[in-house]
Amino acid sequence: MTSHRILIVFGTRPEAIKLFPVVRALATRPGIEVRTCVTAQHRGLLDQVLDVAGIIPDHDLDIMEPNQSLDRLTARLLTGVGAVLDKEPIDRVIVQGDTATALVGAMAAYYRKIPVAHVEAGLRSGDIYHPWPEEVNRRMIAPIADFHFAPTETAAAALRREGITHGVHVTGNTVIDALHATKARIAAQPSLAAGFETLRERVAGRRIVLVTTHRRENFGDGMRQIAEAVAQIARRDDLAVLFPVHPNPGVTAVMEQMLGDHENVLRVAPLDYPSFVSALSEAHIVLTDSGGVQEEAPALGKPVLVMRETTERPEGVVAGTAKLVGAKTEQIVAGLTELLDNAEAYAAMARAHNPFGDGQSALRIADLLADAA
Ligand code: UDP
Repeated sequence: MTSHRILIVFGTRPEAIKLFPVVRALATRPGIEVRTCVTAQHRGLLDQVLDVAGIIPDHDLDIMEPNQSLDRLTARLLTGVGAVLDKEPIDRVIVQGDTATALVGAMAAYYRKIPVAHVEAGLRSGDIYHPWPEEVNRRMIAPIADFHFAPTETAAAALRREGITHGVHVTGNTVIDALHATKARIAAQPSLAAGFETLRERVAGRRIVLVTTHRRENFGDGMRQIAEAVAQIARRDDLAVLFPVHPNPGVTAVMEQMLGDHENVLRVAPLDYPSFVSALSEAHIVLTDSGGVQEEAPALGKPVLVMRETTERPEGVVAGTAKLVGAKTEQIVAGLTELLDNAEAYAAMARAHNPFGDGQSALRIADLLADAA
């Protein structure tokens, strides 16, 4: 029997986190051969996850270069992934989410009439410029894919509204699989999260406000407003701000300039995934504009303030665990202050349930793909 060869294409940290459970689940299926292609759209952050997940890519396009335009990135991705597909026979391609890598992976497969499965399908903000260009990236994958793994019923409904009715399956979000698997690994081997352990002493006895920010829409004025909010809240001595700073110069430069000498703001390099999972588990409040962190924090019962005007993940807001505060100093500080000073408001958010999945999403995806192979 010849095996069914599936190529999983990804390039950034969140894609790697959300796809390693799929790589693992598929690898156990008889008759399926899993191949991986990384574009390395984000080199350093991607490699951190590959290390922890133990994935050695079959193809590494190493496409990252400083300040490249979206045009150039897209063109290089398309010829790069296309060349991989021309090199070896592939029966199916899997892409995840809404990056340039995901869109181009789907396009390169389509140009060769290879079927495409889309993990985390159906997220929509309804605004093509928020998030930009991700909203259009994910919308353009939809008509190409024949499997749409929607994390929630809301996402499935969004696809149906666009006339996509075949191959839509509500599987949960694989980020919850990654989170549970990683928590279990840390419990068995605490040294895995050593990156957080070294910071723990420096925040001891204080409530941790964990901050991440990297959205392109927040670059410029938004970043300055976020930095100002962090500086203001860090004046309190009953908390410590833990801030793994995204390496994009649009983030680092502002944070260095505005938070440089703030002793209650622990600015650190991005944490490896297990260390970040530990930091999330220990955090009191999470302040973020990240997509993935918005999904992980509720799963751990952590109130999350989202520094965006809109979210394509309304489920956290509906469940009461997440609240939109925009990238506005006043709103961020007010949101944090309420959670810090009002125990009832805190308990209401910390109690909310998790709408993003039960940690079994990758198994469902593997079942569906194995059945179709
Ligand atoms: N993350 C990490 N280390 C950090 C910050 C975040 O491993 O220092 C993980 C986090 O757990 C989540 C993912 O990175 O799973 C989110 O990535 P990011 O915020 O870069 O992208 P987005 O989810 O917004 O696309």
